[in-house]
Amino acid sequence: MTVELFSNVLVLAPHTDDGELGCGGTMARFVEQGARVTYAAFSIATRSVPDGFPRDILATEVRHATTAIGIPEDDLRVFDFEVRTFPANRQEILERLIEIQSDLQPDLVLMPSLNDLHQDHQTIAQEGLRAFKRTTLLGYEIPWNNITFNHQVYVTLERRHIDKKVAALLCYQSQQHRNYAREDYVRNLAFTRAIDVGRDLAEVFELYRWVV
Ligand SMILES: [Zn+2]
Repeated sequence: MTVELFSNVLVLAPHTDDGELGCGGTMARFVEQGARVTYAAFSIATRSVPDGFPRDILATEVRHATTAIGIPEDDLRVFDFEVRTFPANRQEILERLIEIQSDLQPDLVLMPSLNDLHQDHQTIAQEGLRAFKRTTLLGYEIPWNNITFNHQVYVTLERRHIDKKVAALLCYQSQQHRNYAREDYVRNLAFTRAIDVGRDLAEVFELYRWVV
């Protein structure tokens, strides 16, 4: 895959940090190559923020994190669907996705895997497939949520891309209690995936649509 094929990339994140976790390095690579990258987050999880943080802290943190990746503030879109209610709000979410489709007309969409177990991630993946079925569409990897995952697409990365992913995840001060955001895990996962294809670092994706 040459990422230069794409110039208008859309990342769908059910919750604010999912996109950085699943494809933060890939986003950094696209931005570096001059692609427009739009980040759409569907929840700032106001009810699950740890004590001691403002309820809307994730709205601030996602802005800092996407800036760390190199995404302009105008290309960040944040919605506030309540965590774990996405299946009940399926139709409204689909309507937001269709609006984004007609507004942006992306040539590549990165979304959670259809095999992701989290109900909100599943909803974004299923409705994302409906809204963007005419577009190249890949599922990013969130290993602790994926019951199974087909490593079909490898985006090879340089250290500087993973550095930006790590920097973005560090912007989520309210989420530092989560072990999957740990820097050593993030770096080791990229290293582990890259071994398959004889490279140094990579993120992997499932392929749902490939339109060239
Ligand atoms: Zn999530």
